[in-house]
Amino acid sequence: MDFSIILGLVQNIAILISFTLIYDLLWEKSGHFSKISYKVFIGVVIGAIGIVLMLSTWEMVPGLVFDTRTVMFVNAGLFFGPVATFVAISIDVLFRALQGGSGVWMGMLTIISSGLTGLIWKKFFPEWRKGKYVYHLLMVSVIAHICMLLSTFALPKALILTTLEKIALPVLTFYPLATVLLGMILVRRMSYWKTRNELALSEERNRMFMDANKDCMFVKDENLRYVFFNTALQEFFGTNPERIMNSTDSELMEPGHAKLCLSTDIRAREGMRMIIDDEYVGQKIYKVIKFPLNFGKDRIGVGGIIRDVTENRKKGNLQQALLNISRIFLENIALQEFLKLSHDELRKVMVADNIFIAIYHEEEDKYSFPYYVDEYDKIEGDELVALDHTLTDYIRRTGKGRLVTQEVEKEINEEFGLSVWGTISPIWMAAPLFDINHKKVLGVVVVQDYHDKDAYKDDDLVTLEIFSAYVGLYYDKLMKIEDLRNAKEKAEVSDRLKTAFLANVSHEIRTPMNGIIGFSDLLMNEVKEDHLKNYISIISKSAYRLLDTVNDVVDMAKLEAGQVMPQCEKYNLGDVIKYVYVFFSHKDRPAELRAYPSENVDLVVYSDKVKLTQIFVNLVNNALKFTKSGYVEFGFFYEKNHEGDPAYITFFVKDTGCGIAESEHKKIFERFYQVENTLTRVSEGTGLGLAIVKEYVSILGGKIWIESEVDKGTTFFFNIKLTED
Ligand code: ADP
Repeated sequence: MDFSIILGLVQNIAILISFTLIYDLLWEKSGHFSKISYKVFIGVVIGAIGIVLMLSTWEMVPGLVFDTRTVMFVNAGLFFGPVATFVAISIDVLFRALQGGSGVWMGMLTIISSGLTGLIWKKFFPEWRKGKYVYHLLMVSVIAHICMLLSTFALPKALILTTLEKIALPVLTFYPLATVLLGMILVRRMSYWKTRNELALSEERNRMFMDANKDCMFVKDENLRYVFFNTALQEFFGTNPERIMNSTDSELMEPGHAKLCLSTDIRAREGMRMIIDDEYVGQKIYKVIKFPLNFGKDRIGVGGIIRDVTENRKKGNLQQALLNISRIFLENIALQEFLKLSHDELRKVMVADNIFIAIYHEEEDKYSFPYYVDEYDKIEGDELVALDHTLTDYIRRTGKGRLVTQEVEKEINEEFGLSVWGTISPIWMAAPLFDINHKKVLGVVVVQDYHDKDAYKDDDLVTLEIFSAYVGLYYDKLMKIEDLRNAKEKAEVSDRLKTAFLANVSHEIRTPMNGIIGFSDLLMNEVKEDHLKNYISIISKSAYRLLDTVNDVVDMAKLEAGQVMPQCEKYNLGDVIKYVYVFFSHKDRPAELRAYPSENVDLVVYSDKVKLTQIFVNLVNNALKFTKSGYVEFGFFYEKNHEGDPAYITFFVKDTGCGIAESEHKKIFERFYQVENTLTRVSEGTGLGLAIVKEYVSILGGKIWIESEVDKGTTFFFNIKLTED
């Protein structure tokens, strides 16, 4: 191989390397490769390189020059697609045609065949780069160069053999090898660009994510200089990114705060752990998270996240304060105390050094102030004040909370015509007090600040409205309790009067009634005529009935007024049975009266003797009233094996009368209830007897129950407490 061949080869290699640069500079990097015009442009550039290659030839066979255009065209087809390849083929074929010479046909054919082989391979194996790409490159380049050898037949006949002899070996070895190498370089470049693009994309995503985050995020290098940060941090510093980049905190912040930041940086770095801290800067509260970042080679920087938690803390405090107020709300304390305690809670979440609660009194068209705390103005006790056309009055009338700055005050003044009351403050805020049904405005809660015109924000109005809702409910609750207490007192007084009245009336009725009964008895002895005796007997019976009714009504009234208490004493149960038996023995009756036990019993108990007697009298009276034949038996019995134990004594009154239907068993104990049937309709009574019995049994610590069957008879059972505790 002479020197000119080596020179030609070196030249060709240099040109091919420049071909790879097109790939780097114009193709993958530009991102315009989908545009057809750009593809044509690339084709023109490849064509130009092809021309340069064709001009950098070496003479292998005398009269025949060679170059590496096939190497380039195979790869052009494989990497740049049809448009660019066809453009390049057209340019170079034209150029070769113009060059002329004996190898013109072969020259043109090699250009076309190598470019097409690359394109066809790419068409059939679009994924060729992903697998064994060296194998693909080898195959495609061998095919392309066999085609090159075949194109030798386009030479003048005399040259074919000698040329084949001369070029066969390099075309089947060196050329494919060069093609594979060039292809490999391009594949590498391709994956390099792919990785680079992906990296750039993920960096872009990270940046977008960080910039979308409202928290400040940053990375500081080993010298604690900012090397990476998001827009939130820029906003935090209020400066441009260039100013922050590579600066330390002490160059960006005031010394006090910078020192604070430095101390957390150092703690995170030296402790090699995450630090979570709260930092207070003016009115703001920040949650600061810092952690060490290893940059390699013993370079430890710091990463950090800063979150403004002022609002969250405020909300947390607000929730706590409202929770506390609702707890106080549930306690039964005086209004003043409730207002004082809830004012203390309100102060924790807003400026509330000046506060008053104005309650509107409709009749007087004036306001009272159950709570009044103010730096300048004072109000005395229960003083009533007319606040017509003041801001307070405006809030009550509109029923809406307002945050009143000086501008808002002007607006209200124009609409409403304000009059001034008390010392004027630059900011004023109020919320209406509603009743429990949220219908009536009871008054107004007002807070104001004399020193800071920005003391309140819209959020504070919401807080005040919630506060005023609690105050309104509490105030209304207390008012309603007060009303109930008054009503109860009134009712108790009238009840006492009623009972006293009834006692008087009963006394006034009983006295003349006794006169009537006594004189009827006397008259009965004097009168001989039967029909007159009959009249007198009617007078006497009616008088007794009236007396019973009066007694029942008075007893019931006393029970209702809660004036009946058990009067307990020791006594013999046998005496009660005997008394009741004697009480009824003189009365006319169709039924036989029996006491049980019939013999004398000697059983001492501790209870209210009078009431027990009264219970028996009422029950036996009813039994006799509703029993037209058979017997009425009353008394008590022991449970077996418990003879003598008062806890096991059951009293009863049994009759063989008309009985009571089961559906009536409960109702007969209600006041004024009488069972409607033929018998009872004619029976006298008020319907109070059993109600009184039930109350007495209950007062004596027992219960009463009934067993009855219509037309067979009725038994009332009851027990009462018979011992001292
Ligand atoms: P009254 O003054 O009407 O007797 P009570 O409260 O004593 O009022 O009795 C309520 C009703 O119960 C009576 O009207 C009667 O219908 C029914 N009742 C009470 N005792 C008996 C009984 N021993 N036998 C049948 N019905 C009775």
